[in-house]
Amino acid sequence: MKTKIRLQISRLLNERFKLNADGLEEKLSAVRDAFEKKEKKILDGLRKITGLSFLRNYIDVFLINPDNAPSISFPVIVKFYGDTNETICIIVHELIHNLMWDNNKNVNWSLKIQELFKDENRKTAIHIAVHAVLEAVYMDVLNEPEEIVKNIKQSQDKPDYRRAWEIVKAEGYKNIIAKLKSQK
Ligand SMILES: [Zn+2]
Repeated sequence: MKTKIRLQISRLLNERFKLNADGLEEKLSAVRDAFEKKEKKILDGLRKITGLSFLRNYIDVFLINPDNAPSISFPVIVKFYGDTNETICIIVHELIHNLMWDNNKNVNWSLKIQELFKDENRKTAIHIAVHAVLEAVYMDVLNEPEEIVKNIKQSQDKPDYRRAWEIVKAEGYKNIIAKLKSQK
């Protein structure tokens, strides 16, 4: 299935939740231009890295101005954060969550990763999988290792994310992905 990622802003979403809509159009076009250049690489890369495919034709990503709440993965609502590349890194993070959910009837990576890392809380365990795939995308597909350095830095004030990165760095993203892909 050919999946298209639709980056957009929703006037209704902004009005409903009284979000600041200043400058959204300009930010959207900058992120969209940059994302479109990488979209095929990212989607093909995710498929190759995980062996999983999205089950949906379209995944809508709604972009909003930064506030105090985190970005969320369903529906995908991503804050413009830092520069264009940092925002794209968050979009890829949320897409990885969606890829795992799309496949949870067949191969449930969310459960598998929690079994592999039983001593960690659920949020940390899930993000061990997300961060491992994210690192694979940025190291082996996009060749932008500096984005992973930035992402790790930004995770330092979020204990579950920080812990997940510590484990990915200690175990190696390739090893974690290999365990997730193994049939056992
Ligand atoms: Zn997440």
